[in-house]
Formats: sequence, structure tokens, C-alpha cells
Amino acid sequence: MEITWNLEHTYQQLPEALFSPIHPIPVKAPQLVLLNHSLAEELGIALEKYDAETLGALFSGNQIPNDGQPLAQAYAGHQFGQFTMLGDGRAILLGEQITPKGERYDIQLKGSGRTPYSRGGDGRAHFSAMLREYLISEAMHFLGIPTSRSLAVVITGEPVYREKVRHGAILTRVASSHIRVGTFEYARNFHEGKYLKDLLQYSIARHYPELDEAENPALAFFEAVMDKQLQLILQWMRVGFIHGVMNTDNMSIPGETIDYGPCAFMNAYDPMTVFSSIDTQGRYAYGNQPFIAHWNLGCLGSALLPEIASNTEEAVKLAKASINEFPKAHENQWLEMMGKKLGIAEVKASDKALVDDLLHWMKNNKADFTNTFLYLRRNAFPQDSIYQETDFKAWLQLWQERISGTRSKAQELMDQNNPAFIPRNHLVEEALEAASNEGNMQPFQELLAVLQDPYSDKPGFEKFQEVPVEVDKGYQTFCGT
Ligand code: AMP
Ligand code: MG
Repeated sequence: MEITWNLEHTYQQLPEALFSPIHPIPVKAPQLVLLNHSLAEELGIALEKYDAETLGALFSGNQIPNDGQPLAQAYAGHQFGQFTMLGDGRAILLGEQITPKGERYDIQLKGSGRTPYSRGGDGRAHFSAMLREYLISEAMHFLGIPTSRSLAVVITGEPVYREKVRHGAILTRVASSHIRVGTFEYARNFHEGKYLKDLLQYSIARHYPELDEAENPALAFFEAVMDKQLQLILQWMRVGFIHGVMNTDNMSIPGETIDYGPCAFMNAYDPMTVFSSIDTQGRYAYGNQPFIAHWNLGCLGSALLPEIASNTEEAVKLAKASINEFPKAHENQWLEMMGKKLGIAEVKASDKALVDDLLHWMKNNKADFTNTFLYLRRNAFPQDSIYQETDFKAWLQLWQERISGTRSKAQELMDQNNPAFIPRNHLVEEALEAASNEGNMQPFQELLAVLQDPYSDKPGFEKFQEVPVEVDKGYQTFCGT
């Protein structure tokens, strides 16, 4: 059966050093497990007319749409601070889908076999990790946070060898693009930097077209990406999301959350929370994320230097002046964001103490991050709990005084900024285990449904809000899964 989507291939107009044309490696017995119907509709991909076999073939890469022109992208990156050549080692871009609204989205298969960038890897992914990416990326989307999305998951019918044998799977990922900070580091550091200008012009045209006319487009682009990243990290901080592997190759130029590997949500508030098994130093801990974003943007700035000014000294001066704005901008906007969580529309400098005192109390009492704000939102606190103790009640009184007279606006802000449901680690694990060990997708589907409406605090769903005691003890997440 001939299948045509609405794919374009502007990335292929870039110099070939930036990618490698390559087909996915066919798999033995593809079987469709998940399909995101509403996303397919938004993308303008009509799937109703295809049978299960065709869908399995399509979303495994065994059949390429007629208008697909598959490729793997080259990129480099700083991984835990070390600069390395990387690239799509297990992902293939089919093309850029133009939606009925005229938007452009990359359609990428992840887990689709070895590519010229696979290094020692097998190019594959396992089922449970792909379900995890599907679930958490969709949860982020419904939380209102920029993110890549997940269109489908297929099991391949082939084993994948990790610490144990697992089911192989392929995820179809949809993103505004997969251009990363690491793509710029690659363009600057390989091939004598001669493709940097091409990549910059392409990225401006695709993601920041308004900057085309700027006096210094490279500098304006740097500042625009910086702002996008800042907005993104603030959203992560708002919901307690820990990306887990903020290497520069995992930081997207359009400012979306990408690369769901060891990510997790924080339960008890502690800025040093980290779940990734390989992050032994806590480099990517919850509270470090803004500093790491700043550091990663420094890498983008250095990659862009030759385009910022031909005189290196001048370029460094300009880039530094821009990046030095980040900490202050973060500090101000973080306070605004936290203010909204507390129902304060217009924060004042003096509100910092109110926010800090609450966080300090939460840390000392191991208070759950999401539920604490949910209780404030409800203005109702569990009996026989830390919320009945004097120090919390003293804080509560100060807060109530602060928002008195603005209660209805405060309520609206709190309802919008404090989710009632997040993907709780233990529920995510239960859902993935049922799916991969027993082939039971029920818990996954139930959790996904709850996460598609995360701000409605509805009764009857308490099991998705409760956090068992010491639930995080020994909890670990994994990269390169
Ligand atoms: P990540 O930690 O997922 O961002 O991946 C870092 C790099 O390793 C990227 O270049 C990936 O394409 C590559 N990679 C991860 N897993 C595999 C695998 N199983 N086979 C080949 N390459 C991989
Ligand atoms: Mg990556």
C-alpha cells in the first residue's frame, strides 16, 4: 500500500556534513502498541484507513511513507562536561510534516537501528524506555510545557540486550526540530567550522524568523535561544521535573524538552534530588538545572563566536555581555513563577522571603512538592500531618495576609500553576512493569488518561496523588536505555 504524508525535507538542503541519508534497519515482527490519535490528527496524518499490519510497518520504519527521505543527524555535545562527537545513533528523521495549519514538525523514529553515529551502540531501544518517553512527554505536553511529543510505539519482535534481555521497541517522536546546542558545537568544531553559517541561517529561518533583520543576527539568535531555555527550565522547576541528563546534545534550539532518558519528577522537596544512576555528583539535580542551562548556553555562545563578530575579542565581549544577563533574569523570573504558585500576581522583592521560608520548611520536613502546593490551592490540609504544626501555621498566616483581598485572582493563578497530578515515579514504574512483563497496558492507559488533564483536582483519583512513605528510597533511572 502506498502511503503519502505531507513531508518536506528542508534539512537536506543543508551541507551533507550535517547529516547522513540512511534507512531504518527493518525489524522482524513489528506490532503497534500505542498510537496517539489526536496528535496524528493535528499533524494531518490520516491513519484510520490503515490496518494494524500497515501501521506496524510504518511506525517501525519497515515501510517508509512515499514522501519520506530518511536521514540521521550529526551533532556533538558536552556530556557531563566532556566534549564528544555524537549524532543520531539510534534515531532516523523521516522528514518534516507540514500540518493542516501549516506548522512544520520533525517526524523521527527512535530505536530504528544502527547509523554512522552509533559508535558502540546497537541502535535499538527497549519497550519499557519507549513507553516511559511516551508517557512523560505526553504528561509534559498536557502540563503546558514545551516538549517533543510521542505519536506511536511499536514493539519490534526482536530482543534487545541490556542488563537483561528486553523487548525491542521503536517510538515515533514529533518535535519542532531536533536542532540542539550540540548541533552548533558540531558545526563549529568539525569541518573547520565552515557550515556554522549555514546552520545558523537555517535555524533562524526555521525557528526565529523575526531575527533575520536583526543588526547582529547571531547575537540576537543567541539571546532568543537563551530566553527560550530560561522559560523552559522555569517550567520544569514549576512542576518538579528533573530532566536528568542536560548534556548540550539534549538541549533543543526551539526550546522544547527533548530526550526523555533518566528524567523523573521530584516528590519530597529537596534541591539536590537526583535519580539518574550515572549522575553520581548530582550535576543534573533538580536545583542545579538553571545553573546547567546557563553553562550549556555558554557552550552555544562559544560555538557561535565566529558569527557574532569576526574579531574574536569583540565576539567574546558581546557574547559575555548577553550571557551575563542570565542569572539576574532567572532570579527575577523564578520569583515571578513561584509567586504565581502562591497566587501572587505581582511579586515584590519582599516576597522572596515568603517563598524561601516555605521551601526551607518543605525541605526540612520532606514535604511533597506537588501536594504542598495542591493543599495551598485547596486551602485544606491533611489532619495529623506536618501541615498542622506551628511553624507551618505561622507561615500560612503570613501567606494568607499576603494574598488577602485578591483571593479570587490568587485562586485562579494557583489552579493554573499547581498541577493536581504529575507522573509519580512509583506509578510510572508500575505501569511500565505491567506492560513489559505481562503485556497489560491497562495501568499505563489509566495513568495516561489522568495525566491528560493534570490541573483538574477531581475526587476519586486520590491514588494518583498519594505518595507512599520513603517511596524514592533507592529509586534510580537510566540513560541510553
Ligand atoms: P542520550 O544519552 O540518549 O542523549 O544519547 C547520547 C548519544 O548516544 C546519542 O548520540 C545517541 O544517539 C547515542 N545512543 C544512545 N543509545 C544508543 C544505542 N542503543 N545505540 C546507538 N547509539 C545510542
Ligand atoms: Mg540525546
